[in-house]
Amino acid sequence: MSEYRGTEAVRVLHWGLGAMGGAMVRLVSRRSLLVSVGAIDSDPGKVGRDLGEVVGLSARTGVSVLSDPERALLHARPDVTLIATGSFVPEVWPQIRQAVEAGSNVICIAEEMAYPWAGHPDLAERMDELARAHGVTVLGTGINPGFVLDTLIVALTGVCQEVESIRAARINDLSPFGPTVMRTQGVGTTPEEFARGLETGTIVGHVGFPESMLLIARALGWDLDEVEENREPIISQTERETPHVKMRPGQVAGCRHTAVAKVGGRVVIELEHPQQIHPHLEGVETGDYIEIRGVPNISLAIKPEIPGGIGTVAIAVNMIEPVVRSGPGLKTMADMPVPRCLVKELAPV
Ligand code: NAD
Repeated sequence: MSEYRGTEAVRVLHWGLGAMGGAMVRLVSRRSLLVSVGAIDSDPGKVGRDLGEVVGLSARTGVSVLSDPERALLHARPDVTLIATGSFVPEVWPQIRQAVEAGSNVICIAEEMAYPWAGHPDLAERMDELARAHGVTVLGTGINPGFVLDTLIVALTGVCQEVESIRAARINDLSPFGPTVMRTQGVGTTPEEFARGLETGTIVGHVGFPESMLLIARALGWDLDEVEENREPIISQTERETPHVKMRPGQVAGCRHTAVAKVGGRVVIELEHPQQIHPHLEGVETGDYIEIRGVPNISLAIKPEIPGGIGTVAIAVNMIEPVVRSGPGLKTMADMPVPRCLVKELAPV
């Protein structure tokens, strides 16, 4: 069981030191009552080096990046392990299991972990049992899924007397992302290549719609009959270019990914997440939009959209304090207290 008692710095182990995990280390270094005590990564370019040097801190941390999780967990004895290695439950499950068995709480940003019961109900049950047996909390979070198209919607329904249906969209710009994102969104392909990519599974669009929808439904007590997803190419009318892709008119600028969920044959949730490079070149304004039909109707527009990287890193680190104080088990963001940016010292439990 985690030994955290609320009177000293929370001990954090970082598992995965890429774009997100590295930025989490930098944010933890700015929080007075969080301390990085361990780091794991499989990249040989990072292993054996000082954590501060690997993530670009100005000072060394005295923490060596290890490739052996068992050694790292034993040595660090973390209160919380931040996992930022992958997107899917089966790939992060062995890491979660090992951290939990070492007595650590876990916060994981894998998209499917926002609601692991959606795609992997058996693993979710095992995760919950294991977390309870070890007296720790496991939480999936992130910007989306994890916040914009689920947690924020659930919070807004708190001022509704009735909720009939929900429509929400996250319209963002893919230009800052690297080659993996370009490939999985089909950016720079021809419409024919895009169609083939969808068939073979190399183009996936957004990961997380079923997770967001089931998280909302569980929070509101809705029993969904079905979730349907649709992916279409966004065909460019203009030339567009990023450091990783260059494209002509007629090629694919991104993926318009949508999903609907029904109760009793009626659509109750519609989510939209069109992602493309340089949307402004064709007059598309980015933003996060939520429309709730109910009593009262609610319309929220956040323009431009909440930046995905900054938001993901913030919410993972901001959830450390609620997670170390939470009761044991596998939790969703809807089970946790309202997220907040806590920068002052924690009060003793
Ligand atoms: P990244 O590719 O930049 O970094 C991943 C890091 O994890 C790398 O350093 C890699 O070496 C390491 N790694 C991978 N597998 C490992 C393993 N088995 N053991 C040890 N180290 C391992 O990716 P990123 O941009 O930091 O994102 C991490 C994951 O989080 C991605 O799958 C991404 O899709 C997801 N993500 C989710 C959200 C959300 O909103 N839920 C937001 C951003 C990123």
